[in-house]
Amino acid sequence: MKIPCLLQLRILKLAFKSLFSRPYTTRFPAEPYEAQKSFRGRPRFSEADCIGCGACAEVCPAECIDVADEAAADPPVRRFVQHMDACIACGQCERYCTTEKGIRLTNEYAFIGFKPADFEEKAAKPLLLCEGCGGAIAPLDQIRWLARRLGPLAFANPTVMLVAHDRLEVVGEGVTPGAETAQRARRISILCPRCRRAAALAV
Ligand code: SF4
Ligand code: SF4
Repeated sequence: MKIPCLLQLRILKLAFKSLFSRPYTTRFPAEPYEAQKSFRGRPRFSEADCIGCGACAEVCPAECIDVADEAAADPPVRRFVQHMDACIACGQCERYCTTEKGIRLTNEYAFIGFKPADFEEKAAKPLLLCEGCGGAIAPLDQIRWLARRLGPLAFANPTVMLVAHDRLEVVGEGVTPGAETAQRARRISILCPRCRRAAALAV
């Protein structure tokens, strides 16, 4: 009879011990499983903390966050679509988010769907338009965030100052798309950089 070697004895010992210890594997999907908090799962936008700046899309190595400005929509809006089916769960978007809380990788790991829309995470932010040319400036929440960060310095820029004064009801009103010149009298209004320059140089 062949005598078992030391390694075989150790394996037998481990096998015997495992009969009476907790299993290392989970019983998912028979039983729900909650991943560790540090697990890098599906990214989710936060409606309250995302300001719509688009930095997450800029740093995404998989280029799976689409950003589109709809200046002609009523109301004007900047839309975000994050495609989970192309995401590599690297966490760059969370790490470099301007507000540090606008997008978070959750511990959701079960991605089940039958169409592309099942793998899309969406966000939409009201867009501030230039009162001169009607072009998009930035999401309102981004300007508000900027005004809070700047404090009194926000008064150096009429656009930021007006938004800081909650003159938000003008968004989408009083815009004259196609206007070629902005007059000096219009300096204290919401303008994109190009129209502000024209207003500053107007005589
Ligand atoms: S606030 Fe964060 S999540 Fe929102 S657009 Fe900017 S970088 Fe992306
Ligand atoms: S986790 Fe990485 S790949 Fe996925 S959306 Fe964020 S930056 Fe892009």
